[in-house]
This record gives sequence, C-alpha cells and structure tokens, in this order.
Amino acid sequence: MKPRILIVYTGGTIGMIEDPVSKALKPFDFSHLLTNVPKIKMLDYEIDNIQFTEPIDSSDMNPTYWEQIARSIADNYDNYDGFVVLHGTDTMAYTASALSFMLGNLTKPVIITGSQLPIGEVRTDGEENLITALQIAAERDEAGNPMVREVAILFENYLWRGNRSTKRSADNFNAFKSNNYPYLAKIGLGISFDRDALTKHHRSLPLAPHYQLDTNVVAIEIFPGITERTLRHALDTPGIKGVVLRTYGAGNGPTAEWFLAAIRDTVRRGIVVLNVTQCANGGVHSNRYVAGDVLSATGIISGHDLTFEAAITKMMYLFGLGLDAGEVSRRLAIPIAGELTVSQK
Ligand code: ASP
Repeated sequence: MKPRILIVYTGGTIGMIEDPVSKALKPFDFSHLLTNVPKIKMLDYEIDNIQFTEPIDSSDMNPTYWEQIARSIADNYDNYDGFVVLHGTDTMAYTASALSFMLGNLTKPVIITGSQLPIGEVRTDGEENLITALQIAAERDEAGNPMVREVAILFENYLWRGNRSTKRSADNFNAFKSNNYPYLAKIGLGISFDRDALTKHHRSLPLAPHYQLDTNVVAIEIFPGITERTLRHALDTPGIKGVVLRTYGAGNGPTAEWFLAAIRDTVRRGIVVLNVTQCANGGVHSNRYVAGDVLSATGIISGHDLTFEAAITKMMYLFGLGLDAGEVSRRLAIPIAGELTVSQK
C-alpha cells in the first residue's frame, strides 16, 4: 500500500512570490508550489492537498485558522497515514503547540514545515523541507505503526517536538530549536530518529479534537524599570482569565511589595497567573532564590520548562474547555502532549 499523505497549505514564505511593484514577498497559490517541486513525483506516495482559500503570511495566524487546520486533519484523519502542514515560520511554533493540544489522542504524524526562502528561488530550502516532511509523515516502524505520532516541526536538519519548539533565527536555515528537549530526528544523509525522544502511545483511542480556544489571556514580560501603573493596567484588562508572566532566570521577579501585591490581588480575583522564564533554556525553580520564593507565595503557578508558545496556547486551550481557574491551574502543571518536564527541585 502506498503511503497516503494529506498536505494542508496555509501560506508562508515557502509558497510566496515577489509582488511585482513593491518586491516584497506575498503568499501565493499551492499549485505554483507543486509545479516548482517536480521531485515530489519521485516519491511513491498518494498525496492530496487542502489549501487556505487565501494563503496567509503566518503573522496573520489566529485561533480561527488553527481550528481550520485542526478540522482539515480531523475530518480526514482516517483516510491518511500522515499530514504535512505548510506554514510560515513566524508563528509556526505557536501553531504546532496549539495543534498538539487541540488534536487529542493523536497517533499519526502531523509534520509542520515551511522555509526561509521561497520555493521558486534557486537556493530555496523549501524543496528539501517539503520532501523530508513528506518522508517523515510516511515513515513506519518495524510493527507498521507510524514512526511519529505527534505534532512535530521539520526544519532543515532536525525534527523537533512542536510544543517544545521556538523560532530561533530569522536568517538561518536551521530556524527552529527545542531548548529543553532533544530533537526527534536528525536529518543528514538519512533520517535518524531518536526513539527515546518520540512520543510513545501504547493504546489507540479515537482522535478527540477540541476546536474551542479562549483568547481571554494576556502575556506580560517583566523588565527592570517596569512600573506599577503598566503592570496593573495589563492585569486589569477586562475579561481576562489567565496571565502568562515572563520572569527572569529561574522564575524570579522584583521583590518590591507593589509588584507582589499586584500579582497577589490578581490571583485572588480568580485569574490564573503562570510563571515562565524569559530564558531560552531551563525552567522555573521558584525556591532557588528568595526573589522566586516570594513570587511563588502570591499563588502564581509554575510553568516549569514550558516555552512561551506552549504556555499561552495551553492556557487558551484549557480555558477553551470551559474549565474553572482551579482546574486550569491544576492541568497547567501536568503534561498533556509532552510539552513540559516537571522538575523535582
Ligand atoms: N513572514 C513569513 C511567515 O511567517 C516568514 C516565513 O514563512 O518564514 O509567513
């Protein structure tokens, strides 16, 4: 049986062409993309595609589009062995994180890729990324099960867990990285999978997609010089249910009483405040420093080693399930799709 793969084309640099007047890149049609990658025919796969009516620059990505991508996968789940999502790099890690939560019980590969140079350009990285993504989506283990059973980002030399990934370069072909989790595969002459890092599912339950996300969340990045007025203003945003607070180092913040009081008051109002570090690598260890300890005493939840992208989308997903603040807080600390490691320290 030939592998059956569905490509979901959302836009992004991979399929862009130059605007004849401004010379800036703009999203373009999927057929143009396929014409430029004749090598696809060398893969002995059955490939179908679905595309956004208007392909987008991923800077325009939002939860409505996430629902559209998730539905494209869920509605066609039984008819394909794997899925490749073509997407711009700017918000790819957010989409990968959101999909990893929305596609409950996923046991098939959802490989997201794109490129830094459009596929029509001579030195494009798009052609190789697309071909490799298709190969990974078709890969099976010895027992005939899909090798990858999760949402992952394929870019240049690596396959990363989607909800552990971050865009790390606007120029480099190796544009993504998981700072707190090993790669799922290394791409060289061959594709070498790290089986210990890949998600293992022993039981197969029907896919349980969830499409509703709640966008009543805010993100606040602290910095030396942040004022009480700005902080309170953000925390007082009408209707918010959750805050992702990007703190220093191991989850530390100012020890000034005005700062701690603002966070404490917010938690008392029933708003979930999640602590994630601004550092690319490592996570929150609240009791390492007094500056983390006093912050944790306000009732803030530890985000452990969550990426910012996973933190904000997980919050939207949990509130989208209609859960109350207590249950959202509880589930934020438990991995849903391999997005965090709870530290014992
Ligand atoms: N702005 C583009 C996008 O995210 C960048 C890219 O695809 O690399 O759609």
